[in-house]
Amino acid sequence: MTNTTWKEPTLAEVDPEIAALVAKEERYEQDTVRLIPSENYASRAVLEASGSVFTNKYSEGYARKRYYEGQAQVDLVEELAAKRVAELFGADHANVQPYSGSPANLAVYLAFAKPNETVMGLALPSGGHLTHGWNVSITGMFFKSVGYNVRRDNHLIDYDEVRQLAREHRPRILWCGATAYPRIIDFAAFRSIADEVGAILAADIAHISGLVVGGVHPSPVPYADVVTSTTHKTFRGPRGGMIMCKKEHAKIIDKSVFPGLQGGPHNHTTAAIAVAAHEAAQPSFKAYAQKIVDNAKVLAAELTERGFNLVTGGTDNHLILIDLTSKNIPGKVFAKALDRAGIVANYNTVPFDPRKPFDPSGLRLGTPAVTSRGMGAPEMKRIAAWMDEVVRKVDDEATITRIAREVAEACRAFPAPGIAVQ
Ligand SMILES: *Cc1c(COP(=O)(O)O)cnc(C)c1O
Repeated sequence: MTNTTWKEPTLAEVDPEIAALVAKEERYEQDTVRLIPSENYASRAVLEASGSVFTNKYSEGYARKRYYEGQAQVDLVEELAAKRVAELFGADHANVQPYSGSPANLAVYLAFAKPNETVMGLALPSGGHLTHGWNVSITGMFFKSVGYNVRRDNHLIDYDEVRQLAREHRPRILWCGATAYPRIIDFAAFRSIADEVGAILAADIAHISGLVVGGVHPSPVPYADVVTSTTHKTFRGPRGGMIMCKKEHAKIIDKSVFPGLQGGPHNHTTAAIAVAAHEAAQPSFKAYAQKIVDNAKVLAAELTERGFNLVTGGTDNHLILIDLTSKNIPGKVFAKALDRAGIVANYNTVPFDPRKPFDPSGLRLGTPAVTSRGMGAPEMKRIAAWMDEVVRKVDDEATITRIAREVAEACRAFPAPGIAVQ
């Protein structure tokens, strides 16, 4: 065999087991209605960049300040990605090296707080993220964490309680942002509280960064000292993280990501973030973001009409949280029955949940992925009708199998981005 005739074997030839699972996952993502609010479909262009030879490179440091030679392309890729992200959000500075949302948040702690200093964030049962100081997270172990909550009466963030707790505990970092909160976040209110107590205001927009770019959720950039996000949720990029900040914090943020927390950046991811930022800068992305919210509102209204009890009574964003107490069914049982029916969502705690976190009362769903496929109001109505049928017949496998067939059939008209099998 000479070099000129040698053909490198494909994935299917090298590892048929993994190749088969990839093919099966493609089929699954095409044939199901994916309502996990943190999931999406990355475009083919994003997947291509993410699967590119930039995975081969090591480039510790930052563009033009590397510890390795051979960075001609990598430097340009990272400069493009950071520039596009900063422009998109109107931020002074962007760091696109964080490996994901959680490491992005850790870099903020490293930049602004010492171990055992006080930090504040939305408590997990109220919809906050683990990395906002919850006790099982390193952020709740290495820092003195104070959690604020949503109000008992309307399940909205209790800004009075945030102010009172901040005055009492004087946190170094005040986190805003959530992972299961269906309403607009008032960043200006958080700014005024942070100013009053001299805290760094950190906004974590992991879920909503695509909505912010699309102009359908207010931006935290004018208010927050630092803004973190994942890149793979509503932003529709590769799995990754990013941090935007004011000019005066640029140095400390960069130092905290590298060398403070990470080694070499994932350059293939950086390339894909640049592509996602380019896609998000197109006018069509604004329409996409608007459609996500429109779809969520239709789905919420249809579910309400069918007797589902929505936390806060509806949604302003991409996300819906159902309290299933009135349906007399635990979140996990419903989520599993829906999954068998080809409708994928996740069980979730609801505020002040009387049940345990591993077996809670709620179901969390969202519209970013179905919207990426081009689904609209008629499909949201059908999804609500299917969910209503499943909730009443969780044990009726014949009905569930019939719905799974109907779901797969309906999905055929909406080819999933980035997926070859149709
Ligand atoms: C998803 C999420 C994260 C964490 O992102 P990972 O990429 O899973 O580490 C952080 N904060 C919030 C608010 C999130 O929703």
